[in-house]
Amino acid sequence: MDRLVLIRYGEIYLKGQNRPFFEKMLVNNIKKATEPFGQAKVYRAQGRIYVENIEVERIVLERLAKVFGAIGINPAWKTDKDLDSIKAMVKATMEDALEKSPEEGLTFKVESRRADKTFPIGSMDLSRDMGAFILQNFPGLKVDVHNPDIKINLEIREHAYAYHENIPGAGGMPVGTNGKTTLLLSGGIDSPVAGWMIAKRGVRLTAVHYHSFPYTSDKAKEKVIDLAKLMTQYCGPIRLHVVPFTEIQQELYEKCPDGLLTILMRRFMMRIAEIIAEKDGAQALVTGESIGQVASQTLEALASTDDVVSMPVFRPLIGLDKNEIVEIAEKINTYETSILPYEDCCTVFVPRHPVTRPKLDRVRQAETVLDSEALIERALEGVEVYDI
Ligand code: ATP
Ligand code: MG
Repeated sequence: MDRLVLIRYGEIYLKGQNRPFFEKMLVNNIKKATEPFGQAKVYRAQGRIYVENIEVERIVLERLAKVFGAIGINPAWKTDKDLDSIKAMVKATMEDALEKSPEEGLTFKVESRRADKTFPIGSMDLSRDMGAFILQNFPGLKVDVHNPDIKINLEIREHAYAYHENIPGAGGMPVGTNGKTTLLLSGGIDSPVAGWMIAKRGVRLTAVHYHSFPYTSDKAKEKVIDLAKLMTQYCGPIRLHVVPFTEIQQELYEKCPDGLLTILMRRFMMRIAEIIAEKDGAQALVTGESIGQVASQTLEALASTDDVVSMPVFRPLIGLDKNEIVEIAEKINTYETSILPYEDCCTVFVPRHPVTRPKLDRVRQAETVLDSEALIERALEGVEVYDI
């Protein structure tokens, strides 16, 4: 009897010709996720993915639960397809379940699936036989087919498999199946969540961070690198571009109306991000904005940042409240890092009275005093690239 992890994945995506592509990517991503834990054998057969040759520990299961595309992570046992072996496996599975919830008077159910139709016992009969076997061996238990405390899943495939624990998978689609986007990654709470939401749909990420040294410290930059690292558990490898932004901010501060500073700054961020996105082969930009959250996220302000780019700009948090965003940040484990108190480039040159309804022609006009192209070019020359 061997220990392994059996992974179930969503079937709604599996229609049509995309199926092998989706499955291959999911197997690859699972393989990569297991690499830190040794030389696991990861393969797919008949609508399941198997992870063998690995210590089935909590830390491994938690890591697997972060891989987009999987819907259920099941620590399981595997054995030969003869009745004695299956019984021994069912017994071991029940013992494990009872160890985890040792109360009295528990109810159970056996649910069988027979993918191998050459196996002589049908799934209904198998469930009933194994149920009777459990009742004999665990006298304290009772059957409840509707709402059992313990559900033993038994699957007859190339081998026989059993499990009682289902850890919900991350859902979504395997990263790499839906193109690539570039995330504007600040050190705040919102942008890592925005990146996570896009990656959940199978999209690879690259990231851009604007750094205003010496107004923002190396600590602020390290914090963003740490955030990107945390995100890679879900999103896969991320290429992070750190862009020097001080000169642009100083120029804006000296030459442009105070009330428009944030809007103008955001327009430069978008322009630079689009150039980097093109270089990275990305097809859209992603930000952590949500309507009305701050002065620079009114409809007018959002329109005025869209004005300078031709790529689509995705804002997955657009309709979420801050507390809903925080909830996701906590779930994906970026919150603690995001709230570390290092200053952000946006907080360095903040206008005292930001214009909340910027008129597009006023904004465009305000920029005419700048040599935008040269500023952007110099910023791009100073980019540092980190492959995370
Ligand atoms: P966050 O919590 O993500 O920092 P925020 O609520 O602080 O968001 P803003 O500071 O207005 O909002 O920024 C809006 C969006 O612009 C961010 O979500 C992010 O996508 C992008 N952004 C802001 N500052 C930076 C930066 N220094 N580098 C890269 N992107 C940035
Ligand atoms: Mg911010």
